Amino acid sequence: MGGFGSGRRGGRFCTDDLRPLDVRKINRDGLLTPGRRFNWQWTCNDEVTGTISLRVETGRVLLNYRSQNTSFNGGEWETMNYPVSLDWTDCGFGGQRVWWRCPAVGCGRRVAVLYGGRVFACRECHRLAYRSQREAFDDRATRRADKLRDRLGWEPGILNGTGWKPKGMHWRTFERLHRKHDANVETALAGMAAKLGILTGQLKDFDF
Ligand SMILES: [Zn+2]
Repeated sequence: MGGFGSGRRGGRFCTDDLRPLDVRKINRDGLLTPGRRFNWQWTCNDEVTGTISLRVETGRVLLNYRSQNTSFNGGEWETMNYPVSLDWTDCGFGGQRVWWRCPAVGCGRRVAVLYGGRVFACRECHRLAYRSQREAFDDRATRRADKLRDRLGWEPGILNGTGWKPKGMHWRTFERLHRKHDANVETALAGMAAKLGILTGQLKDFDF
């Protein structure tokens, strides 16, 4: 990735936080000139933890980077390449302020900072994506648990507790299904609790 322009230090990126991309910083460095190409980097303790390539065009910036899809097995890398529109507003004393237009579908909010993510988007879009992905995740766990309950001959509904071993089922099979059931119930309940605001920051399988 990269290979042209000089590396610019963008900010710290040590944890599972989203990488911030601040258009004001880029502008302050005098980089928002059509035709400019440069890399933007995130560092943690002086080690580069992420790099993207940017190319400035009139009224927009093309982002280019590789993203690892961690929400599925294998974690395949994919190349991301898309434009983000710029917007300028007057700020009173004859100066102008520059903004990103959030590139997420149906958004277009005017923001100073985009966050990546598989996709760079405004904070609000990430929040919504996080919530809907998490709900889908919980729903899957609930459905799986219910299927296992069916195989075990237990009353439907994960809140109904566990039941006995069905007649004729091997103990090992029973224990295996029981364990699977419990794991899925735990996931589903954690999701429900989080939705109700009881727990936060438990699941990190977030990908935009
Ligand atoms: Zn947005």
